[in-house]
Amino acid sequence: MRHLMNPLDFSTEEIEQLMDLADDMRQHPDKYADSCHGKKLATCFYEPSTRTRLSFEAAMLNLGGSTLGFASADSSSASKGESVSDTIRVISSYADICAMRHPKEGAPLVASSHSSIPVINAGDGGHQHPTQTLADLYTIRSLHGRLDNLTIGLCGDLKFGRTVHSLINALVRYPNIKFVLISPEELRVPSYIREDVLDKKHIPYVEVEKLEDAMPELDILYMTRVQRERFFNEEDYLRMKDFYILNADKMALAKEDMIVLHPLPRVNEISTLSRHNSPSISEWHLSIHYWRWDHVKYQWNSRGICSRSHSGRHEHEDLS
Ligand code: ASP
Repeated sequence: MRHLMNPLDFSTEEIEQLMDLADDMRQHPDKYADSCHGKKLATCFYEPSTRTRLSFEAAMLNLGGSTLGFASADSSSASKGESVSDTIRVISSYADICAMRHPKEGAPLVASSHSSIPVINAGDGGHQHPTQTLADLYTIRSLHGRLDNLTIGLCGDLKFGRTVHSLINALVRYPNIKFVLISPEELRVPSYIREDVLDKKHIPYVEVEKLEDAMPELDILYMTRVQRERFFNEEDYLRMKDFYILNADKMALAKEDMIVLHPLPRVNEISTLSRHNSPSISEWHLSIHYWRWDHVKYQWNSRGICSRSHSGRHEHEDLS
């Protein structure tokens, strides 16, 4: 039985196949409407989530299956002191597969070793978030048409941002990938990623503090929020939280076809104000947000992709 703990649990060939399958599902959803008929997904979320939990549940419903689960540790027996291993033993007899999010690094891995159903890591502390990475890879492939020959800027909380760690792990397997790691000194990528992943595989990367310096060479800018819940004290968080704010002036330094990704939730790190400081979120349509900064138009979808079009028309496919 296979579990998904880390993006490396899939080979690059398997990821390619999954993305082809995702393309086909988007084009022919009816073909898949019953593919999980009679199957149950348990979503065991010990930590808050909006997109990850609901997108797992929506996916299962779209495939004709059903879901059960809990959305916080407080509403599960964890609040009575139950261990993850006891919980998963029981869940194994209720469901066919489990997606688990937990504030402690390694908790889903522990669960997988006591489980008789496949366990998907839906985010474990500041460690990994493999399914976000699948969405990120799919978005990059859809918009740039490739996963190789890219310069990727990762900006913000690179220390605690688990989506960053998983994305680096996944991308180093493709040729000619270069990283620009943009963070304050205190929020640098952990040394186990620098040494065991980047250095070991001789992947080119630079670490910089100023976003403006990095902008012109990037094909992708991956913005992240400062992970408040992982800080030991609030003062440090408050000091760091507005370190980076992407705005129209900084976007003006970027290549025409640079795309901005954000795993969401967005806090302050992407400005919603126009140059003239007026609120610029003009329109909400389902999960798609549009807003304007002067003549530049940005498009978002529910997984946090933003692209720009000087013509005012969407140049990229809408992935939502
Ligand atoms: N939603 C992502 C995660 O669960 C990113 C974030 O929370 O900042 O890691």
